[in-house]
Amino acid sequence: MPGLVRSVRTPEFQGVTFHEVMAKSIVNRVPDASSMPFHWAINPYRGCSHACVYCFARKTHDYLGFDSGADFDQQVVVKVNAAEVARKDLARRSWGHELVALGTNTDPYQRAEGRYGLMPGIITALAESGTPMSVLTKGTLLRRDLPLLADAAQHVPVDLSSSIAVFDDELQKAIEPGTPSTAARLATVRAAADLGFRVTVFVMPIMPWLTDSPEQLEEGVRRIAEAGASEVMYGALHLRQGAKEWFLAWLDREHPELAEGYRRFYGSSSYAPKGYRAQLAARMEPLLGRHGLRGAPDLDQPEVRRAARRRAEEATAPGPQLTLF
Ligand code: SF4
Repeated sequence: MPGLVRSVRTPEFQGVTFHEVMAKSIVNRVPDASSMPFHWAINPYRGCSHACVYCFARKTHDYLGFDSGADFDQQVVVKVNAAEVARKDLARRSWGHELVALGTNTDPYQRAEGRYGLMPGIITALAESGTPMSVLTKGTLLRRDLPLLADAAQHVPVDLSSSIAVFDDELQKAIEPGTPSTAARLATVRAAADLGFRVTVFVMPIMPWLTDSPEQLEEGVRRIAEAGASEVMYGALHLRQGAKEWFLAWLDREHPELAEGYRRFYGSSSYAPKGYRAQLAARMEPLLGRHGLRGAPDLDQPEVRRAARRRAEEATAPGPQLTLF
């Protein structure tokens, strides 16, 4: 593993091994073909002890020689010099001060952050360099840094988002076993809103037959509105390679009655069928309006990705040629 300093296990993190590495750079360019509305990201951790069964980032663990199943949850790479390298990257003369997204690949406030405390240094480096930032997390440890983020927001735009999609406690423990409870995450949204942040809640993934009934969606949106969020981004589950095998194996064990339906939906695609996504939007939009929340659909949709890929290809295509003799 490049830059490996040491691998450690501690009694407070049963079953988890931390691989501490020295990163060479940390402000990474997001591929142009991505449909995401930002171009730069920082991920201080690779792998995530939140262990969501459906996690789309699982496949990225393969590149480290780990598997995308249990290793993703238990072999966590920690870029211990993240703050120092961020300061160096952000001090480059070529740095354009575009928004940097935190929490795009793995969760920056996963449990490891309690041990390593990398985020305060990163937030400070971004704020001091005049760089806007966005944070997306399921972690309640975000509360520790809210005063620092509020301070940063005096100088640069700061967007906070929380991912909360399962409102049934039993299902939440089964499918997101390493995450804080839904109630604790909603309390974190409330704490951020009370400090003046306009918080977005990602209701993603909405899982067919597991979390998508009108009653479940109604309860979720109501609780999000009560917590003081301003906007909801919602989307149906997608299952890419890596996540798909892990999720379907979980489903076979926990909900065999749904296995056939899921294989019909996701057998040959990473995305839920278009008709299902349209039906979901038809359920969500009126609900959001009723609860005074602004809604935004998930940008990770096949149609949006295709358009982004086309734009990226057009941007890199050679222009008209001028030949001089
Ligand atoms: S919190 Fe996010 S990054 Fe971590 S396992 Fe869950 S979905 Fe993946």
